[in-house]
Amino acid sequence: MTVSNKQIVESLPPLREVIARHGLAAKKTLGQHFLLDLNLTQRIVAAAGDLEGCTVFEIGPGPGGLTRPLVASRAKAIIAVEKDPRCVAALAELAAVAGGRLDVREDDALRLDLTALASGPRAIVANLPYNVGTPLLIGWLRQMPAFKSLTLMFQAEVVDRLVAQPGSKAYGRLSVITQFSCATKRALTLPARAFTPPPNVDSAVVHLTPRLNRPADVGFAAMEAVTAAAFGQRRKMLRSSLKPLGGEALLTKAGIDPQRRAEELSLAEFENLARFCEPGQCPD
Ligand code: SAM
Repeated sequence: MTVSNKQIVESLPPLREVIARHGLAAKKTLGQHFLLDLNLTQRIVAAAGDLEGCTVFEIGPGPGGLTRPLVASRAKAIIAVEKDPRCVAALAELAAVAGGRLDVREDDALRLDLTALASGPRAIVANLPYNVGTPLLIGWLRQMPAFKSLTLMFQAEVVDRLVAQPGSKAYGRLSVITQFSCATKRALTLPARAFTPPPNVDSAVVHLTPRLNRPADVGFAAMEAVTAAAFGQRRKMLRSSLKPLGGEALLTKAGIDPQRRAEELSLAEFENLARFCEPGQCPD
């Protein structure tokens, strides 16, 4: 009888024991809030969908609560990037039983180009450190076609922004550039008490896949520029907030009333602004 990845992972000591043995007192500066309930982390991995044949990147594996079900999954390989050397040491036991499928790297995810580390299909599954979650996401959105999916845990308020629709309070720059690049699905919400130590707010998981009908003539950088200008002064009329990008002339070309405000515009309207933005005023 062959021993499955799942059985191997289930033979490991409890996460609390790993934390105690390696003295992993949570560091606030690294956004450390650990998940110790393996049923929960299994649900997060299930939300990622089919990982068969994928190289899965996990950012911030910590003591390995999410890494364990990833090793038990059908992923081809797991590359776990962790900034805290104490956690890297704590993951050695898991790496030893993973049959060469788990590569734990001590590094700062903010300075890594994940797409250079492995060929496709690639996926990311991570409970992100709250202090760098948004900049990491924006970097991955720029390269979204290189990924099969991103399954990411953020503060619930961030996920609200990612999936928000025009006219709502949560709708903003992050909503538009995320929905320009991805199909978004809110997968699950976890109360603060699910974490050790508990953060101040609830968390949620979002599942992002590359958007299939993304218009080929609109660039991500132009969308970033248009949304930065429009939402930089979200209460102002667009004729004023978009002045540096062409103001009324741009709005007329894009067929948008200059008296409207950023929070009312649909994704298609932002795409039109990016499409008609003159080279030199907007990046490609
Ligand atoms: N995945 C673990 C879990 O769910 O229990 C830990 C999640 S904890 C919210 C975030 C993890 O990211 C911590 O282990 C922290 O050390 C790590 N981290 C923080 N900043 C990082 C960075 N810039 N690059 C890589 N890892 C980072």
